[in-house]
Parts: sequence; structure tokens; C-alpha cells
Amino acid sequence: MKKCPYCKVEVGGNPEKCPLCQSKLMGEGDRAYFPVQDTMKFRSFLYKLQLFIVWVVIIACLGLDFLVHLRLPGLPELHWSLLVAMWLVAFEFLIMRQFKPGMGSARKVTMMVLIILAMLSVTAYFLGFLQITLDLIVPVVITGAVIANFVLAMVDKNGNAMAYLLSGLLCGVIPSIVLFIVKDRMPVAWMVCMIVSLVLFAGVIIFKGRLVAGELQRRFNV
Ligand SMILES: [Zn+2]
Repeated sequence: MKKCPYCKVEVGGNPEKCPLCQSKLMGEGDRAYFPVQDTMKFRSFLYKLQLFIVWVVIIACLGLDFLVHLRLPGLPELHWSLLVAMWLVAFEFLIMRQFKPGMGSARKVTMMVLIILAMLSVTAYFLGFLQITLDLIVPVVITGAVIANFVLAMVDKNGNAMAYLLSGLLCGVIPSIVLFIVKDRMPVAWMVCMIVSLVLFAGVIIFKGRLVAGELQRRFNV
């Protein structure tokens, strides 16, 4: 047991300093109450390291862009460093989210996919490939997300099926919104996305209908 020479209190465990006056403790320490978590420390260090690197890259890019006037070939007007900053800040946001408790992985991944698609569209707008992004890349990725959520809901054994179904539903609603906006000029990939969503929703009702009904009953007490 360690002892504080000033407060005369005995302190268990093996701390360096007195919890009352912060003076150095005297005597032999016991076994520490709280084992040091090296993994957490290492992770925290890695997190700070990547955060530092990200900031260095953002500041370097802003400097090259606005001070040195380094521009992308063929795009003399574009402040490309702002796009780089947007991606990196979003990257940090997503990493922070990963450590946030109380959010299912289904929702995390789905949110990540949607955020990345939104940023891809902004980037595409400035770099001049918006059309192919909106007509092809976005619907293909969303179709993938709908299928992945459906498959995960089917094979899930940990009681997360409902979370996957809701994530899939969230993604599957998007093509309907697109159809509502563009009316009859719906690109082929969006059509495919919508058909896949509808087919999978039918699948959900057939295969997991009882689960969904049970969940609804639990949530709304009907
Ligand atoms: Zn003390």
C-alpha cells in the first residue's frame, strides 16, 4: 500500500500520485486496480496519427491550390483542394462514427455508402463526369447495398435481421424518389435498381413477413 507523506492517507493499487494533493506517493505499491489497456492506447495513438496526417495533407493541398496556384490539368478554374478537404473531413467523420456506440453496423455501413455517394456526386459535378455518376455508378452501388442488406437479413443469426431490412428499405426507396423526380426519363441502371428493390421487398414479405409483422406489433403495440 502506498502512502501520501502530506495527507497521510493510504492509497491502494499502484498509482504514481496522491489522488488528493497530487504529491508523489511513498512506499511499495500493490497490484494495479485497473490493468493498463495497451491495445486501446495503441489504437488511440493510431487514431491521432492518422488525424495528424489528414490535417497535414489538407493544409498542404490548400496551400498548393490557393498560394502556389497549382491546378489540375484541363481544369484551371477548379479549387481541387476543397474537394480533397471534403473527402478527408468526411473520412474522419466516418471513422468517428465507427467508434460511436449504440449504432448497428447495418446502419453504419448504409450511412457510409450514402455519404460516399453524395460526395462522389459533388466531386463528379466539378470534375465533369456527373452524368455517368448519376446515371450509372450511384444506382449500381445502391442496388448493391439493397442486395447486401437483403442477403445479410436472410443469413443473420444475431437478431439483426430487422436492422438490415430497414437499411435495405431505406436504400430501396431512393430509386422511387428518382423516378418521381425524372418521371419517364429514368436511366436503365435506375430501372434495374428499382426492379431489384421491388423484387427483394416481395422476398422480404414472403420470407420474413412474420418477423416484420412481429416487430411492427412489438414497436407499435398493435
Ligand atoms: Zn496527498
